[in-house]
Amino acid sequence: MLDYVIIGGAQAGLSMAYHLTKMSKNFIVVDGDKEIGSSWLNRWDSLQLFTPTEYNNLPGLKFDAPKGYYPNKIEVANYFKSYVKEFNIPVQLNTLITSVKKTKDGFHILHKDGEFEAKNVIIATGPFHIPYTPPCHTKISKNTIQMHSNYYSAPHQLQAGDTLVVGGGDSGYQILNEISKDKSRTVYFSGDTNVKSIPEQFLGKTLWWWLTLIGFLSYNKYSWIGKRLSNITQPIIGTDTKEILSRKNVISAGRTNDALNEDIHFESGKVSTIKNIIWATGYRTNFKWIEGLELDADHYPKNYRGVSNIKGLYFIGLPWMFTRGSATLGGVSKDAHYLANLMKEEN
Ligand SMILES: Cc1cc2nc3c(=O)[nH]c(=O)nc-3n(C[C@H](O)[C@H](O)[C@H](O)COP(=O)(O)OP(=O)(O)OC[C@H]3O[C@@H](n4cnc5c(N)ncnc54)[C@H](O)[C@@H]3O)c2cc1C
Repeated sequence: MLDYVIIGGAQAGLSMAYHLTKMSKNFIVVDGDKEIGSSWLNRWDSLQLFTPTEYNNLPGLKFDAPKGYYPNKIEVANYFKSYVKEFNIPVQLNTLITSVKKTKDGFHILHKDGEFEAKNVIIATGPFHIPYTPPCHTKISKNTIQMHSNYYSAPHQLQAGDTLVVGGGDSGYQILNEISKDKSRTVYFSGDTNVKSIPEQFLGKTLWWWLTLIGFLSYNKYSWIGKRLSNITQPIIGTDTKEILSRKNVISAGRTNDALNEDIHFESGKVSTIKNIIWATGYRTNFKWIEGLELDADHYPKNYRGVSNIKGLYFIGLPWMFTRGSATLGGVSKDAHYLANLMKEEN
């Protein structure tokens, strides 16, 4: 019987592991993927963080890069690997948990090769579970290359010809930016063209410096200002959306309403020349494997600062779990610290 099983070995899980190590708890971190840092490594090749080094620190170990530098995904994964080594965190990879059930003494945790028994469980499986693609994608011709942004790495995955990017969030705009740098390719964009974008630098300081100064990252979602901030569409950070949309080879097509074979039906009319589609259309959550867990209207676990409706089952790393910082590298520390103190009191 372990004291804790932490499910998910990225920034949120590792932050909790740091505290459990300091508390000399008997625990293990399990992750379904084959490598530490895989959630970052699986993202597209040119990804650069929008948070500079000094805002990427997990508890107890500084991110090893100069101040003001924006790391890439490999540097984040390497930081996690050093973190595991530095604190000697016990990690078991290739262990996808398929079921968590409350028992009389704790929890029964199942994976395809075995099981764990633990008094407590910490779920750190991130905010992005099942890539969502609108249903009309099944009606599109087999000759068109289609992929969700989750599986996009670089333009070499695409065939020659017109390309469509659907989705006007950070991922959609960053991928649109990369693909439309090739001026010989016409790129259709289906997403919000009025979204606000803010630069990474302003008056010689990083955006994150300003956001910290005005307290944006610290307003909690139970305060009136936090409630408002958590409900507005988040601006795009560090990508100049207006410049990208003004490129001669970028065509804003409005909403994607339907599709059949080669024809894609946009709000602005039909286009039949599209050879590649990237769906940057977000994710759905999956917590079905946790028995007895109560979810809210957005399908996220009901919780207060990570404490769920099931005694002994905690969450870390959920978006806006407490503040905007909860699902960021630099912000998860505060939530981990809070939960660790609570765990000290409870045991
Ligand atoms: C494109 C993009 C750019 C971002 N840029 C920044 C940035 O610049 N700065 C910043 O601070 N934040 C950024 N974020 C936000 C945030 O830091 C990340 O989403 C971060 O990856 C969340 O960390 P996490 O530990 O909560 O979960 P994840 O990184 O999603 O990791 C979850 C882990 O759980 C494992 N797992 C999932 N289910 C199971 C299961 N059933 N059993 C076992 N293991 C499981 C997965 O394999 C994975 O390793 C970005 C996010 C995205 C999508």
